Amino acid sequence: MTARLDIDLGAIQHNWRLLDALHPGETAGVVKADAYGLGAAQVGPALAAAGCRMFFTAHLAEAVALRAVLPGHKIAVLNGLFPHRADEFLAYDLIPVLGSLGEVADWRAAARVLPCFLHLETGMHRLGLTLAELAVLAEDKSRLDGLSLEYVITHLVAADAPGDAVNERQKRLFRELAQQFPGVKTSIGNSSGMFLGADFHADLARPGAALYGINPTPGRPNPMRHVVTLTAPILQIHDLEPGETVGYSGEWRAARHSRIATLGVGYADGYHRALANKATAYFDDTPIPLVGRVSMDLTTFDVTDVPARPGDMLTLLGPRHDADALAAQAGTSGYEILTSLGGRFERRYIGA
Ligand SMILES: *Cc1c(COP(=O)(O)O)cnc(C)c1O
Repeated sequence: MTARLDIDLGAIQHNWRLLDALHPGETAGVVKADAYGLGAAQVGPALAAAGCRMFFTAHLAEAVALRAVLPGHKIAVLNGLFPHRADEFLAYDLIPVLGSLGEVADWRAAARVLPCFLHLETGMHRLGLTLAELAVLAEDKSRLDGLSLEYVITHLVAADAPGDAVNERQKRLFRELAQQFPGVKTSIGNSSGMFLGADFHADLARPGAALYGINPTPGRPNPMRHVVTLTAPILQIHDLEPGETVGYSGEWRAARHSRIATLGVGYADGYHRALANKATAYFDDTPIPLVGRVSMDLTTFDVTDVPARPGDMLTLLGPRHDADALAAQAGTSGYEILTSLGGRFERRYIGA
């Protein structure tokens, strides 16, 4: 008996359509990190079937793998052109999101018709051409000769905080910088950026997390459909006397006669160790607390108050307790919960 991860491809398709309907422009699908841990080989074609025509990965190897399941779609690589790898971009028909004058020069040196995006730095300070580099380009436009520049993009620092003035500053700066590239299309918003209002809309949106059910509007109701459900069977139930402890270092001590259920899911499965004595699972509709530490392959829950028996399933991630809720208990983000989900679950793709 193993834990099972149900991934609702129909919900991902619904989420893509919902996001696409938010704005007049085009909507890409960000499928980096194996589609946020959910499986790019399954998620990519499901998004394509919903109408998505452009995909973003972070790494070249991710894009090469995606090309095998998406033979005809545009695939762009956010982390840019890696040194000495232009031939692979060409062989697999991949588009680099160029982030420096050096990458621009390397891509031109590959010397054919060269589709590319340019990443403009507006405050994130991770990737993208700086103001100084853009000034060099403005002086010498021939540096782009031969390139087929399809989009200029930027990435928001705090899109999930609508009140943060940095959003407005980045948008203005980006619009100003983009004027240097007349006729070239623009791309600004990630998932949360799409909810900042119409003046953040551009020709292309780049949602990732919201496709996978993560709330793009933290603090407000989640407009996205639920995608990921993780259930695990109870391996054993132990009856504890008051005063007995559970797990490593005996961090949890029974205050009453207790029934403790053991699940075969641990931190090696992405069920974070930081959840010790904090997480909630569900037995049907009833929340039950994690007790003791999270081990590599096992966790323990207090099922004293529910009629659980060995073999019954507990829900670790579900509509009542989604990745954002578990993340709050672990002190991390829903993004990290999803991308940490391990390879030992039985994965089922449903709904497509
Ligand atoms: C990861 C990423 C996205 C998608 O962000 P979400 O918050 O998951 O929607 C968009 N653009 C860039 C540049 C990214 O790195």
